[in-house]
Amino acid sequence: MEVVDAVVIGAGFAGLRALYRLRGMGKKVAVLEAGAGVGGVWYHNGYPGARCDVESYDYSYSFSPELEQEWRWTERYATQPEILNYINHVADRFDLRKDIQFNTRMAQARYDEQAARWTVAAENGQTWSSQFLVMCVGQLSTPKAPNFPGQAAFQGEVIHSGVWPKHSVDFVGKRVAIIGTGSSGMQMTPIIAKQAKHLTVFQRTANFSIPASNAPVSDEEDRQVKASYRTRREQAWNSPTGLGFKPNKQSALDVTPEEREKVYEAAWSRLGYGFALSYHDILLSMAANDTAADFIRRKIGAVINDPVVRDKLVPKGHPFAARRPSVDSGYFQAFNRDNVELADLRESPIVSFTPEGIRTTIKSHSFDTIIFATGFDAFTGSLLKPDIVGRGAITLREKWAAGPVTQLGVGVSDFPNMLIVVGPGSPSLLSNVMVSTEEQIDWLAELVRHMESNKLVEFEAEPQAEQRWVAHVNERAKETLYLSADSYYNGAEIPGKPRVFMPYSGGVRGYRRILHQCAQDGYSGFTLRDAPAASGGLNRTPEVSAA
Ligand code: NAP
Repeated sequence: MEVVDAVVIGAGFAGLRALYRLRGMGKKVAVLEAGAGVGGVWYHNGYPGARCDVESYDYSYSFSPELEQEWRWTERYATQPEILNYINHVADRFDLRKDIQFNTRMAQARYDEQAARWTVAAENGQTWSSQFLVMCVGQLSTPKAPNFPGQAAFQGEVIHSGVWPKHSVDFVGKRVAIIGTGSSGMQMTPIIAKQAKHLTVFQRTANFSIPASNAPVSDEEDRQVKASYRTRREQAWNSPTGLGFKPNKQSALDVTPEEREKVYEAAWSRLGYGFALSYHDILLSMAANDTAADFIRRKIGAVINDPVVRDKLVPKGHPFAARRPSVDSGYFQAFNRDNVELADLRESPIVSFTPEGIRTTIKSHSFDTIIFATGFDAFTGSLLKPDIVGRGAITLREKWAAGPVTQLGVGVSDFPNMLIVVGPGSPSLLSNVMVSTEEQIDWLAELVRHMESNKLVEFEAEPQAEQRWVAHVNERAKETLYLSADSYYNGAEIPGKPRVFMPYSGGVRGYRRILHQCAQDGYSGFTLRDAPAASGGLNRTPEVSAA
């Protein structure tokens, strides 16, 4: 058994950042990564058209000014291969690979209450003893496996967008199906449409989307960003979403329709995902949201030629941005092509897969390739896959049977010395996840430093604090329109999953203040101990002031 200070699970953006930070503090770290390379979701989601919907300069690490200056992004929204190049560059530049064990999937972690240490076991039988367990497993990393009747009978190729094969997939001359119209389905549609003989897109829910307005980054733009990178970072850290710009303080309802149209028009052609910040109340008031949704419906409708297809593709039945909207590059226009067909699953659901393809209630389709762009078991999927066994042999699955419960999104009572990065209870997917990742890792590193300086061996979330935080997360969500739509934010993506709202909607800046206040107050809501609680509790120091 290898003895380390921290086992980090996952070598995506979060895992690498945790490794870099903890190693820099002199900690011995082992990173376990199930994949064969670094990158996490960016390693696995290699489907055609995969691209980030946060601007490249903002979707990058802020911890190294040298790295910021030397890396040259080529497009406003980076493609998956470029992001993968970036994270590989980071791994090499900071010599991170030597502490990462690839092709190694965590099977179990068990907390030893007497020793205040985790024993982590991989599927290959290897084990580690570690003071800290840092879960950097991503929120969208367990692909949702669809289960249609007769699925195994299909004789063509089946691919999931979230585990895209490493070999090149050729669609030329093929009959292709895409099931799912979230960001993944919307991004791959226009690309595959240009290659395939015939493409059928199976849509269950029409999704809102804003044009990416992607463009190459000029040398002058690159120079300007690099000259003012600190200011740009400050703006991101202090903005509600981590995207760097603040919402318009006006209400969408306090301006004339003409003014609103101008603001929406400008946002449409430039802001991408940030369109939702055109007015401060777009996600707070249904009437305000309706103005944005109506504008987007008109815009989408205007680029679709066929009125029947248009009617199906224009989103309705949920407020704009209450489910994650997409940022697309020619998705709706792809349906004007003769070789692209829309199959509306609300109108005619899938009856079964067949050896040749898919049979719906109205038609039998034949395919060479079927792509599941059906999403993920979001937020909790990858946290609940391994056996994580805490105090008194309770498992995380049992603890979260009614939905995830955390203190500030980072700690869980009965699971001492376990830290979760950008998981449920944190801004996570409601933010530029890169900003949230770095924020949380710096915070947890300071907690580790504080424990070391004060000769503390165990920290643990307090159950009452957890209950208060979950209540607060719910209260903040109730102020918004998020609860008015079924989405992966609230567990609707998996039948039978607890229906609780998981991310924290109080914003990046608000969350940052809460984390800092918690540290300043001696890690309020956490119990810090100078000996394991299980060793009799005599050495327990419930409240230790931060140094
Ligand atoms: P998703 O947004 O969860 O979309 C899944 C799609 O599959 C939905 O259209 C869903 O329909 C459909 N679906 C699921 N199960 C189905 C079933 N049994 N039958 C028919 N349709 C089914 O997943 P995603 O597109 O992979 O995107 C997930 C998230 O990843 C995004 O929201 C985004 O946060 C992130 N992402 C980001 C980027 C980026 O640009 N940075 C790119 C890709 C993904 P319903 O809507 O009816 O459930």
